Amino acid sequence: MTDDTVSPIETEIRRLISVAGPMPVGKFMSLCLSHPQHGYYVTQDPFGAAGDFTTAPEISQIFGELIGLWSLSVWRMMGAPENVRLVELGPGRGTLMKDALRALRVAPDFRTAISLHLVEVSPVLEKIQRDTLESQDVPVMWHPSFAEVPDGPMIVIANEFIDALPVYQAVKQPDGWHERVVGLDSAGHFAFGVSPDRIPHFDRILPSQLRDAAPGSIYEWRPDAIAYDIARRVRHQGAALIIDYGHSQSGVGDTLQAIGRHQFANPLQAPGRVDVTAHVDFQAFGRAAESMNASVQGPITQGEFLRRVGIDVRAQALKSSASVQQAADIESAVVRLTQTGPTGMGELFKVMAIADPKLGKLPAFDE
Ligand code: SAH
Repeated sequence: MTDDTVSPIETEIRRLISVAGPMPVGKFMSLCLSHPQHGYYVTQDPFGAAGDFTTAPEISQIFGELIGLWSLSVWRMMGAPENVRLVELGPGRGTLMKDALRALRVAPDFRTAISLHLVEVSPVLEKIQRDTLESQDVPVMWHPSFAEVPDGPMIVIANEFIDALPVYQAVKQPDGWHERVVGLDSAGHFAFGVSPDRIPHFDRILPSQLRDAAPGSIYEWRPDAIAYDIARRVRHQGAALIIDYGHSQSGVGDTLQAIGRHQFANPLQAPGRVDVTAHVDFQAFGRAAESMNASVQGPITQGEFLRRVGIDVRAQALKSSASVQQAADIESAVVRLTQTGPTGMGELFKVMAIADPKLGKLPAFDE
């Protein structure tokens, strides 16, 4: 970050800490990202080569195309309802939907049934999404929150959305779990601390296999509200596809991270100017969705998901009409999206479906 002036959100967080004392990590994250005037998502376009990060739909058009075709299969399994809401949570630049709708030209009946509902907190990104999607021949609506999307048959897509929702942290102390907080150190810099009080009834949140965690361990959790909301909306005539980096099983560990200009940064530095996220705990997410009587399928790895929905066939088709350079670019994008290990997205990223139990196993989750 070249800009070392104090950001407005930093001033606001300092003020809040001086009035009320150190704040929970989740509160800090929420202010940094979504403060209505100064939050990171509200003020910046984090995408593109000059931006802070790149996501799967920005790496290859194939990603959005395959998700569009997955949605088509799901719509048919739903009995091809005449009206279906295709909902995207956190659509970024609108690239995934643009590619999905292009691929869906093969299915005019589905395209006619679709109304597109985009849930976006950022006015900067909403403007970019409008430029990308308004010329499409499907009705498009924007909503500041998922709660405002009208009920009805729906297919929900969320790629790298849940990781941006606030995460709370607890630290195991000799006498139990205490909340991890952000305060100010003696030099006036933001610093992590531990609340002096034990979190009451923490056993209701903590998975039983983690009760004996070693002192100093960190456990992260997100409010279950988003998993409940998704499950409640899709359990009658609907399905959701959740794609994100995270772990299949709940565990201990600090995954809070910040990215600025494609580099890892300190999450406490430059609040509002860097993207702050944390891994998704798919086990906790799935448990919450299941408690609302939705069918939970997966998670499977992104690499496995993409292979099962046909990434290799689609890449081959694109390569057959591409130049040598373009074919090499297609190949390296496929590798990046599917590769295991620390540099690929194929294993770290997981895919989970939440659905109406009457639909049975959804495409890619049926093997
Ligand atoms: N899905 C896109 C973008 C991922 S970045 C892609 O894959 O490229 C996260 C997206 O979620 C951004 O569009 C961001 O503005 C949006 N977002 C973050 N928090 C949000 C919230 N609380 N409500 C609605 N949108 C949010």
